[in-house]
Amino acid sequence: MTTHPKFNANPAFLDGSMKKMLIDGRWVEAKTGRTFETFNPATGELLARVAEGDAEDVDLAVAAARRAFEGPWRNVKPNQRQNLILKLADLVSEHYEELCVLDTLDMGMPIGRSIQNRERVVGSIRYYAAQAMNIHGETIESSLDGEFFTAALKEPIGVVGAIIPWNSPLFATVKKISVALAAGCTLVLKPAEEAPLTPLRVGELCLEAGIPPGVVNIVSGFGETAGARLSAHPDVDKIAFTGSHFTGQKIIRASAVNVKKLSMELGGKSPNIIFADANLDKAVPGAAMATFNNAGQICCAGTRMYVERAIYDEFVARVAEYGSKMRVGNGLDPDTQMGPLVSTEQLARVTDYLKIGQQEGAEAVTGGQRLTEGAFGKGNFVPPTVFRNVTDNMRIAREEIFGPVISAIPFDTVDEVVQRANDTPFGLGGGVWTRDVGKAHKVARRIRSGTVWVNAYNVMDPSVPFGGYKMSGFGREGGVHHVDEYLQTKALILNTD
Ligand code: NAP
Ligand code: MG
Repeated sequence: MTTHPKFNANPAFLDGSMKKMLIDGRWVEAKTGRTFETFNPATGELLARVAEGDAEDVDLAVAAARRAFEGPWRNVKPNQRQNLILKLADLVSEHYEELCVLDTLDMGMPIGRSIQNRERVVGSIRYYAAQAMNIHGETIESSLDGEFFTAALKEPIGVVGAIIPWNSPLFATVKKISVALAAGCTLVLKPAEEAPLTPLRVGELCLEAGIPPGVVNIVSGFGETAGARLSAHPDVDKIAFTGSHFTGQKIIRASAVNVKKLSMELGGKSPNIIFADANLDKAVPGAAMATFNNAGQICCAGTRMYVERAIYDEFVARVAEYGSKMRVGNGLDPDTQMGPLVSTEQLARVTDYLKIGQQEGAEAVTGGQRLTEGAFGKGNFVPPTVFRNVTDNMRIAREEIFGPVISAIPFDTVDEVVQRANDTPFGLGGGVWTRDVGKAHKVARRIRSGTVWVNAYNVMDPSVPFGGYKMSGFGREGGVHHVDEYLQTKALILNTD
C-alpha cells in the first residue's frame, strides 16, 4: 500500500488578485485593462481573473525580447545560460507540488500521476541546460583559390514566439523556455486561455532564477488576438507552436509575412496495434492508458486500437473492463486516475463524438455518455469509453477527439494493418504490441509517424526526438535536434591572404 501526500488546494499564487503578464521583467496589466476568467474544470469554480493581453501587449513583449536579444543577453556565455537554466530547474523542483496543484486546478490533470513526473519535468530542464554548452558549428576545408578559412557557425535565431496548448501546461512551458534559453534566444510565450496559471507562476520562478528582464516574457490572452499578432509580428524570428492542426495552419499562413522559421507540434490520431502474440497482461493496461491518460487529452493518444481478430473480443472486453474500473473524479484527490475534460467546449466536442460514434453504428462497450450524477454534474466528466464495431471510415476513427475514447478495430494480417494504420492524414505516435521482435521491428519501421513505441506507450525521454510526420507537423522537440530548431547556420568565408 502506498500512502498519498495531501495537497494544498489553495496555493498562495491564487490569492484572489488579478494575474498580470510578464513583460520586460515586470508584471503588468493589459493595455486595454481587460481581463478574462479561468475556471476549475472539476467544479466549475472561478480560479482567477487574468490579464487579457492583445496585439499592443504582444508588441511591447516582442520589443522587450528584441532589446534583450540585441543587448545584454547576447553577451551571456553558454556556461552562464546553463547556470540560469539549472537554477530554474532547481526552483521548479522545489515548487513542484505547487505547480502540479496549479495544473490540476486549471485543467484537471490527476495529481496522483503528475506528482510522479518530477524527474521527467525537472530532468528535461536539466537536459536543455546541458545543451547550452553543446552548441558547435564546423570548420570546412576550402577548395577556393587562395587562402581561406571557411566555417559553418551556429547562432541563436533571435526572438521566439512560443504558443502552447492547455493539456500539459507545466511541461510545455518549461520545455519551451529552457530550449530557447539554451540556444541563446529570447522568447514571448502565449499560454492557452484555458490554463494560463502554471505558465505565469513559472514566469515568477524565471525572475527568481535571475533570468534577465526581457529574456522570458509571458503574455496571457486569446489565440485569435494575442496569438495571431505574435504569429504575424514582423520582428519575431520563429514560432514554436504546439496545438491543433487547424490553428497550426493559421499560424503557417500568418508567419508568411516575414518568412518566420517554424516548428509545428500538432495533433494526431495514432494507431496502437495489438498482435495476438502480445503479453496481454501488459498490453491491456498499456492500450487503455495510451488513451485514458490525462482523460485522452494527449497529442499522441493511441486512439485507433487495431486488435488482431483472434483476440479481438477478449482484448476489447478486457480494455473496457480496465476503463470501467478507473476512478474518475477531481484530480486533486490523489486516488483519482482520470480527471475532467478541460472546458465545457471540450466536453461538448467529446460528447458530440460519442453521439456520432453511436449514430455511425459503433457500440460503446463501456462509457459512451457524460457523467452527471452528484458532484460530476458540476464538472466536465466523461468516463473511459471503448467503442467496438468501428470501421476505418467512421469519423471516430479518423478525427482527433482529444477525449477518453478508444476506437477498437479488428485486423487480420501484418500488411493489411500497416496499410490501414497509415491511412490517416496524421503521423504523431503509434504502438506495436507483440513478443515477436522481427515483426515488431518491421511494423515499427513501416508506420509513418514521428514516434513508435513497442510494448510501451507514451513514455518520453528528454534525449529522444519527438514530433510529427504529415499533418502532425514538423520540427522535433527533445534531443539535440530540438536545440537546432532554435539556431541559424552562418557560413563564414574568411580570406586569410
Ligand atoms: P489549439 O486550439 O490549437 O490552441 C493552441 C494554442 O494556440 C492556444 O494557446 C491558443 O490560444 C492558440 N491559438 C488559437 N488560435 C490561434 C491563432 N489564430 N493564432 C495563434 N495562436 C492561436 O489547441 P488546444 O485545443 O489548446 O490543444 C489541443 C491540440 O494540441 C490537439 O490537437 C493536440 O493534439 C495538440 N497537441 C500537440 C502536441 C504535440 O507535441 N504534437 C502536444 C500537445 C497538444 P487559445 O487558448 O486562446 O485558444
Ligand atoms: Mg482553467
